[in-house]
Amino acid sequence: MRQLLCLLVATVTALPALAEQKGPLVVVLDPGHGGPPPHDGAHGARGRHEKAIALQVAQKTRQMLEQQGATVILTRDSDEHVPLADRVRIANEAGADVFVSIHCNAMETREDRKVTRGVETYFLSPDPTDAEAKMLAQLENGGPEAVPLPKANDAVTGILNDLALGQARNDSAALAQIVQQHMVRGTTSPSRGVRQAPFLVLSGTRMPSVLVEIGFISHPREGRLLVGDKYQAKVARALASGVTDFAERVLARRLIAQAKPPASAEPPRVQAASPVASPSGTR
Ligand SMILES: [Zn+2]
Repeated sequence: MRQLLCLLVATVTALPALAEQKGPLVVVLDPGHGGPPPHDGAHGARGRHEKAIALQVAQKTRQMLEQQGATVILTRDSDEHVPLADRVRIANEAGADVFVSIHCNAMETREDRKVTRGVETYFLSPDPTDAEAKMLAQLENGGPEAVPLPKANDAVTGILNDLALGQARNDSAALAQIVQQHMVRGTTSPSRGVRQAPFLVLSGTRMPSVLVEIGFISHPREGRLLVGDKYQAKVARALASGVTDFAERVLARRLIAQAKPPASAEPPRVQAASPVASPSGTR
């Protein structure tokens, strides 16, 4: 009983130490696109540009996350072209806990532009949810000609099979759910759901990663809202609270789970060091 108590005390006192070791939450925000065509992303009416809105929202989100004590890195902080591979490298080298790529959606036809609006959050999967998700991934990846969709047995499949990345992949689905909930609640824009697609920018990151389509710049009302400071702040608040909610609910749970092994790992360590474990051992 006393042993159990000691173990409990050891486990509980180990928690703050672990939390300290971990340091502040590191978030990499990735404003989609940037720079001259063909890297400038989608366009809406009246000079509404996806790349500009994505950057403004990322900067506002950074400010809100920093106020909560997080360390935030942007993959770009100006209107410049940053290749997808560099965005991935920035996130991995930063040892980020969470990666969020920020984009705006747009419809092609006049009819669709009038009626389609809403928020959707993606996590990486080699199998797109549907034809629409597949097409969107092609666009965000740089067009169907520029970057072919991943085929079986290629790099993406390899990454998905990598056990070390398995947890990050599972957590990406949870991150997508949580961010989507916060986005819909915070903006009151319709939910288009959590979806899966083979986005290249999500394929190499070694941490829970999502791509958020924060709204349609092609929609008359949503497009107007998206360029405004007030709505952008709403979106940023939703993204920031989604990330911190995920950190508390999913990453903190992992932190507690990590605290358990020292207690159960104790006996094997004693065994290995003690000659009693060996049949021919002498005192
Ligand atoms: Zn985009």
